[in-house]
Amino acid sequence: MSKPKIVVLGAGYAGLVTSRRLAQKLSPEEAEIVLINKHNYHYESTWLHEVAAGTINPNQARFMLTDAVNPKKVRLIYDSVLEVKKDEQRVVLENSEVSYDYLVIALGWVSNTFGIPGMEENAFAITDIDSSRLIAEHIEYQFAKYASEENPNEDELTILVGGGGFTGIEFVGELAEKVPQLCKKYDIDRSKARIINVEAAPSILPMFDEDLVTYAKKSLEDRGVEFRIGTPIKEATPEGFIVGDDKELIKAGTVIWTGGVTGNPVLAKSGFELVKGKVNVDADLRVPGEENIFVLGDCSWVMDKESGRPYPPTGQLATQEGTVAADNIAALLRNQPLQDFVFHNKGTVASLGVTDGIGNILDGNKIRGKSAAAMKKVVDDRSLFMVGGAKAVLKKGKFRPF
Ligand code: FAD
Ligand code: NAD
Repeated sequence: MSKPKIVVLGAGYAGLVTSRRLAQKLSPEEAEIVLINKHNYHYESTWLHEVAAGTINPNQARFMLTDAVNPKKVRLIYDSVLEVKKDEQRVVLENSEVSYDYLVIALGWVSNTFGIPGMEENAFAITDIDSSRLIAEHIEYQFAKYASEENPNEDELTILVGGGGFTGIEFVGELAEKVPQLCKKYDIDRSKARIINVEAAPSILPMFDEDLVTYAKKSLEDRGVEFRIGTPIKEATPEGFIVGDDKELIKAGTVIWTGGVTGNPVLAKSGFELVKGKVNVDADLRVPGEENIFVLGDCSWVMDKESGRPYPPTGQLATQEGTVAADNIAALLRNQPLQDFVFHNKGTVASLGVTDGIGNILDGNKIRGKSAAAMKKVVDDRSLFMVGGAKAVLKKGKFRPF
């Protein structure tokens, strides 16, 4: 009898952790492990706002998959997944097809524009290495262009960020570091370059207590970030955002949408039942009614029994799910009982640039300032260790004492 084939889709947090743990747990005789990813590298999704602002080099936020998994134990296929044919147990890729006995879908998130007119056409989104690098280069191009023109238009220097959730705020924090550097480089008066964050809700970062939000907002305002809170974006045009009931146009040379994400569209294409773009999985991380399909990370909702609501999707959650999914697949192969997933929350930290941040850490303790920024670097390096091991941390790690 041929050995069972485990196919993992996506080499982000959930997929890479699953693959590495499967390779550790299973002998080559027990199963064949296949990891399929669009690129030959893994990127740290949680660092993309830094790539997009140009405060880190894109190469720091990625590493080769062959550095993280042993290709003798995990067969690597670099291709795009188009569709899962559940009834036939096969995955359709752009360039080939792969059959499976066990499937792990960990294809992550995509930007969600909620159908706002013009958003997809006129705004950038931070979604992967290439889209993030493009934003950084576009911003720098606007500064270089402004400096070279005889009658430059100051709107070219405005950077408009739609959405004041985690991504939007961490991104404007990085911009607050980068913009003064660009002004210096291109001999531009700092007061001419604007960073504007537009948020529909009454507050930015609603997941934090008011005192931390007030701290974050003041810290960013002190470094030149302008906020338009309680201001829904109605439309994006080539000139900027149209906001509010009076349809005010805020003009900008660079427009970025960070207003939300949803699960990978491969899920819909493959006929999974979706709730807000993601699959509601059972406690053992399998799709209800599908004994051999696990859906992880930003492609799924996992119910938190304590709160009665799904756990918020994060890299931390995806990483922990990867471990449990691998253990459950090994248990299935060995006819052992499966375990339910329980999230161990290690806290939440938002950076506000390189040396500032806010966070809730274990036991409800709040941190802010340099300690939060340092903690964020520790969290980033821990996440890097989980997906890439010690080699990735040594090569790409962030932590340096201030
Ligand atoms: P991902 O890590 O996104 O991995 C998906 C993988 O699938 C990628 O490698 C992708 O290339 C691949 N892929 C996608 N489509 C295809 C396809 N069709 N075919 C083949 N391969 C494909 N969370 C935190 O916990 N802490 C943070 O500090 C934090 N910061 C963030 C900052 C930013 C700017 C953003 C956008 C998000 C942040 N998050 C953070 C959220 C976190 O990034 C996600 O929750 C996490 O990436 C989900 O992990 P995942 O494994 O589901 O997907
Ligand atoms: P989000 O959904 O958390 O935030 C989007 C924000 O955009 C919200 O505040 C929303 O009110 C606003 N918005 C939506 N429509 C709008 C409109 N028309 N006009 C103006 N504002 C509008 O999305 P995100 O910030 O990209 O985060 C995505 C996921 O990644 C979340 O689960 C988040 O927790 C996670 N994340 C975590 C971290 C971290 O832990 N440090 C960092 C980044 C992202």
